[in-house]
Amino acid sequence: MKILNGAALSKKIKSVLAIEIDYLVKKHGRAPKLCIVLTGDDPASTSYVKSKQKSCNEIGILCDLRLLPYATSQDELLALIEVLNNDPETDGILVQLPLPKHIDQNVVLQAIDYKKDADGLHPMNVGLLNRSDDAIIPCTPKGILSLLKAEDIPITGKHCVVIGRSNLVGKPMAQLMLRENASVTVCHSKTRDLPHLTRQGEILIIAIGHPNLLHADMLKKGAVVVDVGINSVDGKLVGDLYNSIDVQDIEKKAAAITPVPGGVGPMTVASLLENVVEIYKRRCAV
Ligand code: NAD
Repeated sequence: MKILNGAALSKKIKSVLAIEIDYLVKKHGRAPKLCIVLTGDDPASTSYVKSKQKSCNEIGILCDLRLLPYATSQDELLALIEVLNNDPETDGILVQLPLPKHIDQNVVLQAIDYKKDADGLHPMNVGLLNRSDDAIIPCTPKGILSLLKAEDIPITGKHCVVIGRSNLVGKPMAQLMLRENASVTVCHSKTRDLPHLTRQGEILIIAIGHPNLLHADMLKKGAVVVDVGINSVDGKLVGDLYNSIDVQDIEKKAAAITPVPGGVGPMTVASLLENVVEIYKRRCAV
């Protein structure tokens, strides 16, 4: 079984981006800039934001981190987004999710100028992706596709089964695989007879947010398995594939698997950096 090493590819993407940014700064006289807005102090979100900030710093993207208290009102957050939308120096805007419960996530995501939408979650970018047009693509699905392509995993004509239908991962992943000419099945918590469908997946992408669902007998022999999940079990970071009983059988049956950590996570960050540079280039070209 092959390990799809997202950490190594992410490192490679970052070093290529660093060279490109160096060139772009000389050409346009300023560095790309991402503004990350974090509302509240959720430990997981804080850790993701720090990792994104560190990666920006490593490759020459300016990272403007706005830390807002949990009690920030929706209007205050929207007012900040308007300022960032109109700031000529800000290329990408990322509002870290989840937002506090008193704030409507959809209203906030829609308020971001879709041309600065570094996470690709604005309805305009969702629509452009669905039309196979020039969208800013959500970072996790984009990173997964980059990893599959870098590893020469054939996609055209393959049956791709996506487990999970979130706006963040499952739905854009399915759209992206469709765009790449896979035949796509999307499964979710109300799917009947999940094993019947997962057994058909030549590429199986699992993004449900809890471990122990997938067992070896639910897998097609030779499947490429992408594990998106991030879960904490006994203080250890594990994916959705983590299964104390038969993880070794899964590994024997699959042709390739993404590890957790070191698989999809680093690719998500690399794709965010790519999105920021892409937005910057589009803005500089206008
Ligand atoms: P979500 O909670 O929004 O969606 C989970 C989806 O899984 C839902 O569509 C639900 O229908 C489906 N699901 C839940 N239980 C199921 C079951 N028993 N059978 C079939 N489907 C089931 O989560 P999300 O935002 O899509 O994230 C999923 C996981 O991926 C989480 O662990 C999250 O932390 C992780 N994640 C990782 C990265 C990364 O960079 N590695 C990025 C985003 C999300």
